[in-house]
Amino acid sequence: MRIDDVYKSYGDERVLHGVSLEIGRGDVEVLVGPSGSGKSTLLRCLNRLTEVDEGHIFLGDVEVTGDTDPDEIRQQIGMVFQDINLFAHLTARKNVMLGLQKVRGMGEAEARDRADAELARVGLGDQADSYPAQLSGGQKQRVGIARALAMDPKVMLFDEPTSALDPELSNEVLAVMRELVDDGMTMVVVTHEMRFARGAASSISFLEGGEIVERGPPDRMFDDPRHERTKRFFESIS
Ligand code: ATP
Ligand code: MG
Repeated sequence: MRIDDVYKSYGDERVLHGVSLEIGRGDVEVLVGPSGSGKSTLLRCLNRLTEVDEGHIFLGDVEVTGDTDPDEIRQQIGMVFQDINLFAHLTARKNVMLGLQKVRGMGEAEARDRADAELARVGLGDQADSYPAQLSGGQKQRVGIARALAMDPKVMLFDEPTSALDPELSNEVLAVMRELVDDGMTMVVVTHEMRFARGAASSISFLEGGEIVERGPPDRMFDDPRHERTKRFFESIS
């Protein structure tokens, strides 16, 4: 995936200011930075939940920011947020089946098999008949991941998927994410989980004020940050 000189403002506020980033297939890019630095906005631009003002984003040969159907893009670029929105009146299985049937036009039996396979992949094989209210926060997040994976995305975006969870539940979600990494999924992840970042990232980008101030491999970023702002950030979290 290639991000080429992207700008975004809300009114007078510059939120993304000339962001460029190349993320190879199977790579895991972790975005860190202070609150308000533009991390979520950048993720949202990647799957067209937010439109860029200037610049271009490509997934392979397809220009995400071009004249393409945003729904088409969102099938190829799955996203998991902090607060996953599952339909409360549908079971876990039905939540995963919905997109397959409505968007993909898949038949009921095939969608059911696919949903069950994806739920098993995230460790919820025995919870397919549960309703969201019967699931823990971590389980709900994993249903959200299964729902995105069911669409067979080329890239997965994660925006602080564990920040609303206590440590034990976070670990369940992080374990699923680690498996995706091992499976070779291309991922862009905003997270405060520095152990995950260090262990799973191909590269870490530090954002501030809508710019990538520093980018590098995780060990180098943690042990030898070069920019003053990056140093202070890693000092404050360690
Ligand atoms: P956090 O770590 O708190 O999640 P972030 O790095 O994800 O922060 P963004 O959510 O991208 O930051 O927000 C960057 C800036 O853009 C903030 O100042 C925010 O108030 C502003 N912003 C984001 N979305 C909108 C919007 N839809 N309308 C107006 N301003 C927005
Ligand atoms: Mg955010």
